[in-house]
Amino acid sequence: MSRNAPAIDAQRLSLILNDLRLPAIKLIWPDFTTRADKEGWPGARLLAALAEHEIAERDRRRIERHLGEARLPPGKTLDSFAFDAVPMISRARVTALCSGDGWLEKGANLIFFGPPGGGKTHLAAAIGLALIENGWHVLFTRTSDLVQKLQVARRELALEAAIAKLDKYHLLILDDLAYVTKDQAETSVLFELISARYERRSTLITANQPFGEWNRVFPDPAMTLAAVDRLVHHATIFEMNVESYRRRSAIQRQSRAGRPPTFATIKSNEEMSRSDNRTCE
Ligand code: ADP
Ligand code: MG
Repeated sequence: MSRNAPAIDAQRLSLILNDLRLPAIKLIWPDFTTRADKEGWPGARLLAALAEHEIAERDRRRIERHLGEARLPPGKTLDSFAFDAVPMISRARVTALCSGDGWLEKGANLIFFGPPGGGKTHLAAAIGLALIENGWHVLFTRTSDLVQKLQVARRELALEAAIAKLDKYHLLILDDLAYVTKDQAETSVLFELISARYERRSTLITANQPFGEWNRVFPDPAMTLAAVDRLVHHATIFEMNVESYRRRSAIQRQSRAGRPPTFATIKSNEEMSRSDNRTCE
């Protein structure tokens, strides 16, 4: 610092930075200003460097908070997802979805169908993780757990508030829709949730059963129809009709070890259903 610069009351500056909620600047200003003095930075450069640092830290903290809130199953990432095991899903398509642009703003949905073990939960969680890293707010939940919570809220006459609280999530991942039990279906909380989010907030649903089987999940067929209608109005549907990934991996391990598979066979790509992924705009 030049000899005739006015002295700074560091303690007071700390308090002001606290008041202004600028914790990153509070932490780094002594280093940055020392360096700026030494290297002769213009004042504007110093101010910009401090501001950039604060905003980057703010983003980092927000992502960390969102990751903590999202309750994603651990270890399910796009890097660990073998796209060649699901030939009907293109990596490029999934990567595009992970930016969140163009669908999360308008509350469009994603629906993954397929038999157990095909990677629906893995892919859903991996997309959720990537979206959080791109700044979006996501919640992952088993559908039946959330239905249970919403039923409790309903009994306490607080269903509307509970659904409104979920509004802060740009994407709500409802894993395993088909596992909602009969007694849960008797109330219509899931329908109310879907209606409330319609065209405002996005939902990703995974299900072992096609729409035709969703009557179990809603109190009556008319409500099932209305729910499906709202969900698919703006939706991308992935049909993940592949054999269980775990079973296939086990078979591959066995055949590598020289033992023939005894309990299942690996289907060729041609044998696997190749239904095109549909987009309903
Ligand atoms: P689903 O939800 O369709 O029943 P999961 O996503 O739970 O299937 O997949 C079952 C297991 O297999 C998980 O441990 C998952 O990580 C793994 N798995 C499934 N598909 C893939 C894949 N394409 N690449 C890597 N791991 C996969
Ligand atoms: Mg699953």
